[in-house]
Amino acid sequence: PPYLPLSLSLFCSFALSPSTSNQPAPAQIGQISSIVLGLPSVKFETLDPDSRAQSQHDSKSINERKGKVKLGQLDLEGALIARDRVGIQDFVLLDAHNSETAFLDNLKKRFTEDLIYVSEKQRLISGVFFIVIESFINQKTSPYSQTYIGTLLISVNPYKELDIYNKKQMDLYMGVNFFELPPHIYALADNAYHTMLSEANNHFILISGESGAGKTEASKKILQYYAVSCPSSTLLDTVRDRMLMSNPVLEAFGNAKTMKNDNSSRFGKYMDIQFDSQGDAVGGHILSYLLEKSRVVHQNHGERNFHIFYQLVEGGEEDLLRHLGLEKDTKRYSYLVQGECSNVSSINDKNDWKTVKNALSVIDFDANDIEHLFGIIASVLHLGNVHFDGDTKGYATLNSNAALRWVSKLLGVHVQILHEALTFRKIEAKSDEVLSPFTVDHAIYARDALAKAIYGRAFTWLVNRINESLENKDSNRKTVIGLLDIYGFEVFTVNSFEQFCINYCNEKLQQLFIQLTLKSEQEEYEAEGIGWEPVQFFNNKIICDLVEEKHRGIISVLDDECVRPGDASDLTFLEKLEEKMGNHPHFVTHKLADKKTRKSLERGDFRLLHYAGEVTYCVVGFIDKNNDLLYKNIKDVMRLSKNPIIQQCFPGTEGDSRRRPETVATQFKNSLLQLTEILTAKDAWYVRCLKSNDNKQTGKFDEVLVRHQVKYLGLMEHLRVRRAGFAYRRRYEVFLQRYKALCPATWPHWRGIPADGVETLVQHLGYQPDEYKMGRTKIFIRYARTLFAIEDAFEICK
Ligand code: ADP
Ligand code: MG
Repeated sequence: PPYLPLSLSLFCSFALSPSTSNQPAPAQIGQISSIVLGLPSVKFETLDPDSRAQSQHDSKSINERKGKVKLGQLDLEGALIARDRVGIQDFVLLDAHNSETAFLDNLKKRFTEDLIYVSEKQRLISGVFFIVIESFINQKTSPYSQTYIGTLLISVNPYKELDIYNKKQMDLYMGVNFFELPPHIYALADNAYHTMLSEANNHFILISGESGAGKTEASKKILQYYAVSCPSSTLLDTVRDRMLMSNPVLEAFGNAKTMKNDNSSRFGKYMDIQFDSQGDAVGGHILSYLLEKSRVVHQNHGERNFHIFYQLVEGGEEDLLRHLGLEKDTKRYSYLVQGECSNVSSINDKNDWKTVKNALSVIDFDANDIEHLFGIIASVLHLGNVHFDGDTKGYATLNSNAALRWVSKLLGVHVQILHEALTFRKIEAKSDEVLSPFTVDHAIYARDALAKAIYGRAFTWLVNRINESLENKDSNRKTVIGLLDIYGFEVFTVNSFEQFCINYCNEKLQQLFIQLTLKSEQEEYEAEGIGWEPVQFFNNKIICDLVEEKHRGIISVLDDECVRPGDASDLTFLEKLEEKMGNHPHFVTHKLADKKTRKSLERGDFRLLHYAGEVTYCVVGFIDKNNDLLYKNIKDVMRLSKNPIIQQCFPGTEGDSRRRPETVATQFKNSLLQLTEILTAKDAWYVRCLKSNDNKQTGKFDEVLVRHQVKYLGLMEHLRVRRAGFAYRRRYEVFLQRYKALCPATWPHWRGIPADGVETLVQHLGYQPDEYKMGRTKIFIRYARTLFAIEDAFEICK
């Protein structure tokens, strides 16, 4: 059975664990239970911390049996000896001071040795066999997501290629327990995978950190690990290739260079990787969140548009470019020059173009799809070159027809109709339609709105199309590992509606982390009456509420202002905010700036004191971006398109209803709510990415910056809860049912109340008082190793 090697390797790894402690020698337990049951006690000798040689021998033989190369033996030993030099890989084992400084020193020490990962492993789970049984017994009373709080891995961005992501390393981590090898993203991926298999339930890996901290890289590494290391069959190779190849495609269309990151994700991505009961990766599904469409028409200095535009122009084949009417020069396109940085040293657009083309063919795009898709991309570039002049009355006229003709050709709409749609607004009056001419500004607005709509909808189409190619139609029961890689917290010189949404999203993820770890964990101790010194932490719920609360939050105020007839504008929105939020401790405006913070604030700005720091938002554009309106006649024109992708993007049924569509912020809020529901139904694993410095510099560890992140991510509080907390808890009935065979007084039946039975049982097993606590309904066991010892005794009993 698949659980056996895992639980055996766990068993041995305890003896190897550097945390030799004042626990009773677990050998005792083995002896007791084996005497009782008349079983040989030989196996428990390996649990004695002193008999390391024996343990290593076992650990090695297990790995040899699994046909794996064993590096752990040497590396772990080496790591122990060199501990002072390279720091401690398991942060729960950090020495008693528990201080932030010790924590940071440890991170730094390891970082300078290129050891970018630190983990907390105290709460390691294996269980495996009993977990399956218990899920059966205890399904109703204890959902698994409440049994453990997830494992956490911390990584620090090294800004250089490390030779630790290759097949050899993958092989090393495969099926090996978290304890045995140094922390690695593969270790987390592998443990999530094996836990999913043995417990037959769903998991998710939440990757968080600010922009540029390494989230996207981490998520790619996890996906690669699954694609390469899960069992394989030829049939499934296609699925796997597609999963891998969906990445370069989505990055090309959804990532861009920003001031924070040369490959910054401008959309949120949640991907379910589906596995069958054998552990084969059999399919996938992607959900995408709010693409930053405004980038299509505007980029700040030092930033670029989405990668795909540059890839196409720089790398596109002559024939293709001719067909699309494009010149091989990014400087010719207004939508590509605003940031004045089309060339970036870390990016090779030509090569990336080849990768994307190849990836598209793997996910089943044929020549037609490619022609139509790039027709759309090119049409956006041409659209940006459609310029307007003002006539004597100030109304917009076309400056030149050339660009518009290309747009019309590529989108398959008549040039005259398009022209009209970009320079006139159609007003429906009773039975008549009246054309009202646009001013130049209005025409530019309509043009940009069209460019954003085309790109945004094509992106959604692309995600759907990738999902079709990843879909597994086999209806067999599948379990999933969800990977969440979303845009990180960001603060620019000027922050707008997009940063507001992105930072709100990060608040929500932090809230989820708090809910699932710090809060629920401590609440459970309290509910169970376990003596517990509460660990104080900053709960950012107050900021989430400030943004999202019904009828009261910023989004609600913004939505109200978006529908208010009359003089509603960005500035009136700000006034409303001042009125309603003025007293909120996390909200600052121009009028109130001096009282709350020392920094003054421009008129037209508001500042939020986010969990990760202060951000000043400029209200200009909030109303427009939240409404995201596209004139009806432009939509009508797009519906006539001959480009099949555009036809799907602008379906005939849309816009007929009189109901006002949801605003962008409200849609986003709802999609985050759904995401939270998806995630909380699964078991959590966390990767917390830290940014080592703000200049993308190799090997530089900016202590102030890292300390700030450690602080706001609540890592110290997390550590405190972990150190003082209990690795394992089970309801008394369940615990007793499972282990009653280990004690003559409880076997075969315990006649009293279950709590007393458990007390008798653990007394018999020789538990020391600090090792466990008896709660109202559950027993809490402090160290995982205690549990593994009895678990192993149990294996022998069987
Ligand atoms: P995020 O998604 O958090 O914004 P990315 O994952 O895109 O950040 O990482 C930003 C950049 O940092 C990458 O392009 C890469 O250069 C570097 N980087 C991140 N993680 C690693 C890693 N594990 N090893 C080497 N370089 C990394
Ligand atoms: Mg990213």
